[in-house]
Amino acid sequence: MLNIENKVIAITGASSGIGEATALRLAEHGARLALGARRTDRLDALAAQIRERGGEVIVQSLDVTRREQVEAFIGNTVAAYGRLDVLVNNAGVMPLSRMTDLKVDEWERTVDVNLKGVLFGIGAALPVMQTQQAGHIVNVSSVAGRHVYPLAAVYCASKFAVHALSEGLRQESQFLRVTIISPGAVASELTSTISDPAMKKEVDEVFRKDLLPADAIARAIAYAIGQPDDVDVNELVVRPTLQA
Ligand code: NDP
Repeated sequence: MLNIENKVIAITGASSGIGEATALRLAEHGARLALGARRTDRLDALAAQIRERGGEVIVQSLDVTRREQVEAFIGNTVAAYGRLDVLVNNAGVMPLSRMTDLKVDEWERTVDVNLKGVLFGIGAALPVMQTQQAGHIVNVSSVAGRHVYPLAAVYCASKFAVHALSEGLRQESQFLRVTIISPGAVASELTSTISDPAMKKEVDEVFRKDLLPADAIARAIAYAIGQPDDVDVNELVVRPTLQA
C-alpha cells in the first residue's frame, strides 16, 4: 500500500508526457495536486479529467524560468491546501544539437529550464518544508545525467547538474527526502524542442525507437513518494528493456 493518500503534491511541467502521467497516477492514489506549466488549456483539460474521477487539483500558469512564478506556484499550493508534502520538479526541454552548431540561445534555455527551474523549485519549496520539518523533493533527471550521449552535451550537462544538486541536498538535510528519477527513452513531446528538423528525425528514428509509456515513469515516481517517511528512495533508473 503506497503512502500517498492526502499528500499535497506540486508537479511542474504537468501539461504533457511524464508530468501529465504522474498527475493522473498520483490522483488515483488520492494525492491532492497542484499542476503547473505554460499551456494552461492542457492543464485545465487534465484537471477536468482528474476531478471527474473524484480527485482534488488546482492548476496554475507556470514558467519555471521565472523565479517569481515558481514562488507563486508554491505559495498558491500552500494557500490552497495548508501545506506541501512533495514537489516534483519535472519540467524540462531537450533541444539537442551539436555544440559546433553554436545554438547558444538553446544552451541558455536548457540551463534555464532544466537546471535553474529545478533550483527555483527547491528554493521556493524548502522554506515550507523546513517549517514543516518534513517534505520530499523529486527531481526528474535522466539517464543523460549519468552518461553523455551524442548531440546532448548541454542537455547532459543540465541533467548531471540536477544529479549533483539532488545528492548534495539529500546529504545536507535531516528531514527531507530527495529522489532522483532517471528515465531512459520515454514516449512524450520532448523531441519537439529540437529545432533542426533533420536532427529531430534522426533522434526520433535512430535513438528513440523502443519507448516506455510515460506511465512507467509515473509509477516509479509513485513508488518513491509512496514509501514510509523514514525511507528515502535516492534514485530510480528506468529504461526500456531494449535500451542499451
Ligand atoms: P514533454 O515535452 O512531454 O513535457 C515537458 C513538460 O515540461 C511540458 O509539460 C512542458 O509544459 C514543461 N515545460 C517546458 N518548459 C517549461 C517552462 N519554461 N516552464 C514550465 N514548464 C515547462 O517531455 P517529457 O514528459 O518527456 O519530459 C519531462 C521530464 O522528463 C523532463 O525533465 C525531461 O528532461 C525528462 N526526461 C524525459 C525523457 C524522455 O525520453 N521523454 C528521458 C529522460 C528524462 P509547457 O510547454 O506547457 O510549459
